[in-house]
Amino acid sequence: MEDSKEKRQQEIRQIFAAANAIVTGDHFVYAAGEHGSAYVNKDAIYLYPSKVSRLCRFIAEEFVAMNVQVVVGPVVGGVALSQWVAFHLGEITGRDILAVIADKVPVLGLTKEQNPYIVEENFVIKRGYDACVRDRRVLVVEDILNSGMSVKKVINVVNSLGGNLVGVGALCNRGKVTGSQIGTHSLMCLMEADLEKFPEAECPLCQANVPVNTKLGKGKDFLQRKGEFSN
Ligand SMILES: [Zn+2]
Repeated sequence: MEDSKEKRQQEIRQIFAAANAIVTGDHFVYAAGEHGSAYVNKDAIYLYPSKVSRLCRFIAEEFVAMNVQVVVGPVVGGVALSQWVAFHLGEITGRDILAVIADKVPVLGLTKEQNPYIVEENFVIKRGYDACVRDRRVLVVEDILNSGMSVKKVINVVNSLGGNLVGVGALCNRGKVTGSQIGTHSLMCLMEADLEKFPEAECPLCQANVPVNTKLGKGKDFLQRKGEFSN
């Protein structure tokens, strides 16, 4: 049993590495404004449906005994995840498992000038999918957990629609997020990536004049704000 778990962990690490989804040894600005040397690039994974499918198989296997009826994933990445996890759960259990999208809606009142990094957003389940969640056993899926705020908002939507949350499955936990923080007894992350991060003013990479990566993360916004970036 332990052996198969270790094998699985190895395969997960290989999938992330093969897709170049974890970039290290650089200077990044994260969505919440902090800086650090490593970046989890979830977009790189979604280029490869077979890899996405494989990762989602692992999530499905973890929740197979929990009688999941609906898998909910937030846009954008969660859409692919909800499809694949529902597909694999259906294949394993022989039942029809539904895949539902949670859409993003902006929260009014916070402008980009007030906070250049965090554009507040909430989630809604619409398109008629809200009726599919009520009184059903729901698994929420997400790609990367940073603060856990997004997934918590999705959970709140599921709860408010009368869905019965059975757990949360994620590709990568990079913020040491715990189940109790987001409101579930059952949080399963394929990978724990505890990446060091610093407040902007204390960033050793800034102090060493290491150039900021403008392709991944919010480096471009950061430099534009400082008047140091032009196209
Ligand atoms: Zn920095």
